[in-house]
Amino acid sequence: MIQFTNTLSGRKEPFQPIVPGEVGLYTCGPTVYDYAHIGNYRAYMFEDLLKRVLKYNGFKVRHVMNITDVDDKTIRGANAKGIGLKDYTAPFIQAFTEDLAALRIEPADIYPRATDHIPDMVRIIQGLLEKGIAYRKDGSIYFKIALFPGYGKLSKIDLSELRSTGRVESDEYEKESVQDFALWKAPKEGEPVWETEIGPGRPGWHIECSAMSVRYLGQPFDIHCGGVDNIFPHHENEIAQSEALSGKPFANYWLHCHHLIVDGEKMAKSKGNVYTLRDLVQKHGVDLMALRFLLISSHYRKVLNFTFEALGQAGAGLRRIKDFLVELETGAFPPGGASETDRLLAETRAKFDDGLRDDLNISIALTALFELIRRVNSLNKNGEIKSDDAKAIAAYVYSLDDVLGVLPPRVEEKLPEALEAKIRARETARKARDFASADRLRKELAAAGVILEDTKDGVRWKIVRTSGGS
Ligand code: AMP
Ligand code: ZN
Repeated sequence: MIQFTNTLSGRKEPFQPIVPGEVGLYTCGPTVYDYAHIGNYRAYMFEDLLKRVLKYNGFKVRHVMNITDVDDKTIRGANAKGIGLKDYTAPFIQAFTEDLAALRIEPADIYPRATDHIPDMVRIIQGLLEKGIAYRKDGSIYFKIALFPGYGKLSKIDLSELRSTGRVESDEYEKESVQDFALWKAPKEGEPVWETEIGPGRPGWHIECSAMSVRYLGQPFDIHCGGVDNIFPHHENEIAQSEALSGKPFANYWLHCHHLIVDGEKMAKSKGNVYTLRDLVQKHGVDLMALRFLLISSHYRKVLNFTFEALGQAGAGLRRIKDFLVELETGAFPPGGASETDRLLAETRAKFDDGLRDDLNISIALTALFELIRRVNSLNKNGEIKSDDAKAIAAYVYSLDDVLGVLPPRVEEKLPEALEAKIRARETARKARDFASADRLRKELAAAGVILEDTKDGVRWKIVRTSGGS
């Protein structure tokens, strides 16, 4: 059984999808007005882990992530540069796609863009107007929150303090200014305008996600995710719009990740602590697999404090796993297998899998993995790891990468023949005490990424990778 903490109920609940074995997942994607920062990637990484864990547990996942390419911020950005919205957002969409690949975040099945779905939004707003839940004011259309009894059920806002006569125009606002919100915004100087059945104008931010989630996943769908800052007003408003129109529940499970902060402080441009992936790689030489490991290593419901020290520790943890695999794959082990291994792997598997099934408890899962490494290393020191054990353990650890996504591709068990021939030639040279040739061959092998180690059991090699993480 998998359990998740559902923001809607405020409790940990067993996960039961609408269609057995299948999951419809909607995650709020980037507002493409700038390069995404590591806080955003914390959210996308949590969603990646969620999706990988669902798949690891046998679910088929249909994942929709929207691209918000029209809202207050994108319009402001385009106007400041004096270019059209599409030209302004295109490079940020491109950069986002590249960043996801660099972080090995599995792509969504569909990335719908808001500007391609205006008719869907218009249809919802039209329905809400017909029901009398939406009303017009000065060319804009607003959602009357007093007419939706469930308003506040996600964010638990106190409706008794509601100033229901007021209206809020901007896409983002705080709980203190909870009022009727804009579904459709009247044309304004310098803003893009769509001519539609409900009149000219452009959509508010919240309606975009209501339209695109239901278009691709139906209503209700299984899981809706985002960062905690999305709970109010964005997700609260999505629920209000979608449920008021159809009378059906919108999404069954709401999962929200907590924020990433930097050096104990909120990220802010003025503090110079807003990092994009480009900053981290180009200015700080960061290994993105270490960053990935750091981002997934902390439980999604806890605030994650990003520091370069923590990043270094994540890198060291990752190296420990990789060195362990190199040892298992290239070490010289006595033939055969020991019965201990099966038990050890079964124990690790149970802990790792149960941890993740319990609201994505990654700490339990990783503790199980590092405990396995520790125990195998100590058995190995005593010569108790045989070649079949080494193979089985390596295969198991690699299988965990379906969830973790941090390991380089598997070491091939055989080197290309030309390299094998060089190793043999070096052996021959060494035996003939031709140390100059032996040394030259060793250097050539090193240049090809093969490091030799002379042990009492003969020569061993290991591959030093240059791709897929260092
Ligand atoms: P935005 O592009 O601002 O709409 O944000 C995209 C996603 O990143 C949303 O799910 C936000 O909740 C999330 N997000 C924004 N800032 C942070 C942060 N500091 N930590 C974690 N998630 C964040
Ligand atoms: Zn959204």
